[in-house]
Amino acid sequence: MPTYTPPTKDMQFILHDVLEVSAMQVPGYDELDRDFTAAVLDEAGKIASDVLAPLNVVGDRQGCTLENGVVRTPDGFKDAFDTLREGGWTALDCDPEYGGQGLPYLISTSVGEMFSSANMAFNMYPGLTHGAYNTIHAHGSEAQKRTYLPKMVTCEWGGTMNLTEPHCGTDLGLIRTKAEPAEDGTYRISGQKIWISAGEHDMCENIIHLVLAKLPDAPEGTKGISLFIVPKFLVNEDGSLGARNALSCGGLEQKMGIHGNATCVMNYDGATGFLVGEPHKGMRAMFTMMNEARLGVGLQGYAQGEVAYQNALGFALDRLQGRDVTGTQAPDKPADPIIVHPDVRRNLMDQKAFVEGARAFTFWGASLLDAGHRAGDAQAEQMVSLMTPVIKGFLTDKGFETTVLAQQTLGGSGFTREWGLEQFVRDARITMIYEGTNGIQALDLVGRKLAQNGGKAIMAFFEMIKGYIKENSGHDPAFDAQFLEPLKAASKDLQAAGVYFMQNGMKNPNNALSGSYDFMHLFGHVCLGLMWARMARAARQALDSGTTDTAFHEAKIATGRHYMTRHLPMTATHLARIEAGGDTVMTLAPEQFASAAG
Ligand SMILES: Cc1cc2nc3c(=O)[nH]c(=O)nc-3n(C[C@H](O)[C@H](O)[C@H](O)COP(=O)(O)OP(=O)(O)OC[C@H]3O[C@@H](n4cnc5c(N)ncnc54)[C@H](O)[C@@H]3O)c2cc1C
Repeated sequence: MPTYTPPTKDMQFILHDVLEVSAMQVPGYDELDRDFTAAVLDEAGKIASDVLAPLNVVGDRQGCTLENGVVRTPDGFKDAFDTLREGGWTALDCDPEYGGQGLPYLISTSVGEMFSSANMAFNMYPGLTHGAYNTIHAHGSEAQKRTYLPKMVTCEWGGTMNLTEPHCGTDLGLIRTKAEPAEDGTYRISGQKIWISAGEHDMCENIIHLVLAKLPDAPEGTKGISLFIVPKFLVNEDGSLGARNALSCGGLEQKMGIHGNATCVMNYDGATGFLVGEPHKGMRAMFTMMNEARLGVGLQGYAQGEVAYQNALGFALDRLQGRDVTGTQAPDKPADPIIVHPDVRRNLMDQKAFVEGARAFTFWGASLLDAGHRAGDAQAEQMVSLMTPVIKGFLTDKGFETTVLAQQTLGGSGFTREWGLEQFVRDARITMIYEGTNGIQALDLVGRKLAQNGGKAIMAFFEMIKGYIKENSGHDPAFDAQFLEPLKAASKDLQAAGVYFMQNGMKNPNNALSGSYDFMHLFGHVCLGLMWARMARAARQALDSGTTDTAFHEAKIATGRHYMTRHLPMTATHLARIEAGGDTVMTLAPEQFASAAG
C-alpha cells in the first residue's frame, strides 16, 4: 500500500523564506504568519494522509457505478466529503459574503496540493465545484449568486463544467447543444455532453452544471457560444430544492485512471437553463473557470509526482540489491539498499528537483493571482495569465514523467498493483490531456499570450529575471556560478526563441507552431531555474543565520544545483529544435506518414 506524508516543511519554507508572504502587499497576506499557515497546513495534512489517502486505492479498484441513472461513488467517498465540508475545507478562499473564509488563493493552493497528492480522483469533486463557484461569482447576476453560491461554497451542491461534445473537444466553435429561449426568460437546453467530470454522483444534494450551448441566432464559431446554469434540481424561490430538471447521466466512461471520479455522458433533454452573463459571451465567462482549472491541473501533475516520489524514496531506502561500488554500506545485510547506486540516486534527484521546483512555481503563480485579484495588480495578473499554459503544460508533462521515474525506482514492483505506483502513473496521465491538451496550451502560449498587449507580459518577465540576477549577484561567488550564470544562459535561450518567432513566425506560422511545445518547455525550465535560484538563496541565508535544520537547507542547495546542472541545460536543446523551424515537421504529405507500411 502506498503512503503519503504531507510536505508541510517544504511548503512553509516556500511560503515564508522564499515568497515571504507576510511582507507581500496583498490584502489578507499580513495574516499569513508562520503559526497560522503551520496550523492550516498541519490540519489539512492530517485529512490528506488519514482520510483521503487511504481511499485512493479503494477509489481506483471500485470505481464509480451507474444504476438506474444514479451514480455511486466508491466506499468512503461520501464520508470523506462530509469531513471536508464540516471542516470548512471547501470554503477556504471563497467570498465571505457567501459563507467563505476569504483566505488567499495561495492557501487553498497549498491545501489543494495535499488533497490532490492524497487522492486526485476524489479532490476533483470539490475542485470542479470551486471552478463553477468562481465562474458564477465572476459572471453571474446578483440573484444567481445568492441562489447558488452559498450551497456551492459548502459543497452541499456540486458543480461541473460541460464543454466537450462527441464531435468536438478542442474546437468548441463546433458545439451543437442548443438553448431555446422560453417565455419565462429561461432557456430549454438540449444536447449531449461527454466526459463530464463529476457530472453525476451521490455526494451532493444538487449539482449545478455550467453548460455551453448556442442560441438560435448565434453567430458561427466560438463567438456564438453562451453559458448556462443548468441545475440537476431546480431551486425554489425560498432556496429549497424543486423539480428534477430534464437532464440525466447516460453513461460512465471506462478510463485508464482517476477511477474514483465519475466521468459522465450528460444528456440534456429540454432542461431548464439560466443564462450567465450576456448572450454569445459564454467562452469569456468559461475562461474564468478554465484558467483557474488549468492552474489546478498543473498542480495535480506535480502533486502526483510528489506522492510517487515519496513512495519511490521509501522503497529505495529499504530494498537491498547489490553493493555500493565505492565500499559496502551495510555489511550486516546481504546487500546494500539501492539508494547507494548512482543511477537510483540520479532518478530520485530528478524527481525531487522537479517536485520541489514545481511547488515553488505553482505557489508563486497562486500569489500572483492573489496580487491580481485582491490588490488590483495588473502586472501580476498579466504575468500569471502568461504563465498559466506553462504551469498547466510543463508541470503536467514533467509530473507524469516523474511518476514514471518513481515507478522505475521500484523495478518490477513498480509494475505491480500492490505497490500503487502504477496507479499514480495512470492517474497523472489525464492531466496532460484535459483542460485543453498540452499541445493546445503551447499553442495558447505562443499564438496568443506572447503577443498579448504588445508582448508586455513577456517583456516584464525578462525584466524581472534580469532584475533578479542583478540584485542577487556579487554577494556569493558560488551562488553566482551555480545559480545565476545558468539562469542567465537559460533566459538568453528563451529570448532567442522569442526573436526566432518574431522573425520567422509571421512569415510562416508553421515555423512558430512547430516550436510552440518546445517553447513551453523552455519557458518552464527558466521558471523552475528562477525558483531554484530563489530557494537556494533563501536556504543559504537560513544556514548563514544559524538555522538548526541544516540537513533540510543543505539538501535544498544541493537539489537546486542538480536542477541547474542537469535540467536547465535542456533550454539549449529546446532552442535548437525551435530554430529548426517547421521544415521537417511540415514536409511530408499526409499519405507519406504511412509510406513505410507494407
Ligand atoms: C477523464 C476526462 C475528464 C474530462 N473532463 C471534462 C469535463 O469535466 N468537462 C469537459 O467539458 N470536458 C472534459 N474532458 C474533455 C477534455 O477536456 C478533452 O478531451 C480535451 O480538451 C481534448 O479534446 P478532444 O479529446 O476532443 O481532442 P480533439 O480536440 O479531438 O484533439 C485531438 C488531438 O488533436 C490536437 N489538436 C486539435 N486541434 C488542434 C489544433 N488546432 N492545433 C494543434 N493540435 C490540435 C489535440 O491537442 C489532440 O492531441 C475530459 C476528458 C477526459 C478524458
